[in-house]
Amino acid sequence: MGCPIEDDEGEELILAYGARTLAPEQQIELEQHLETCESCREKAEAQRAVWSALDEWVPTVVSPNFDERLFRRIASEEQSAWWQRLFSVNWSWRPAVPVAMACAAVIAAFLLKSPALRTEPQSEAQPKLQIEQVEHALDDMDMLKQLGVESALDKAHPSEKI
Ligand SMILES: [Zn+2]
Repeated sequence: MGCPIEDDEGEELILAYGARTLAPEQQIELEQHLETCESCREKAEAQRAVWSALDEWVPTVVSPNFDERLFRRIASEEQSAWWQRLFSVNWSWRPAVPVAMACAAVIAAFLLKSPALRTEPQSEAQPKLQIEQVEHALDDMDMLKQLGVESALDKAHPSEKI
């Protein structure tokens, strides 16, 4: 195998190596190359460091009264003028985007690294838990959708209140 850094797929190969998503034979091939190539080894080690940092990352626990505070906040924003609401909604949700992306990356990493989880027969307790999680997620999505629709409507027709 030639040095992967020198061809276009090299970056991808090393990224996949860091994420442990390489096919076993590709991984063996790359590992053999890493023993002889310092620049590839450095890149691969950097990738591994990123992924092990992600492994150690534990999401912050949401405070127990998060829902209550969120609903109170929504209620107070509904009472404020449309332009205040528009401003504060846009402003307050913007930081959530990178957080959501980070969460998605962690979930993706988890799924990619644990293919066994998807194929294993599920225990009896799991479906109930999943249904609850889905219901909760749907509730949250509903709420976010309402917020989004409201602010979109406000943009389109500032004078029309819902
Ligand atoms: Zn190399």
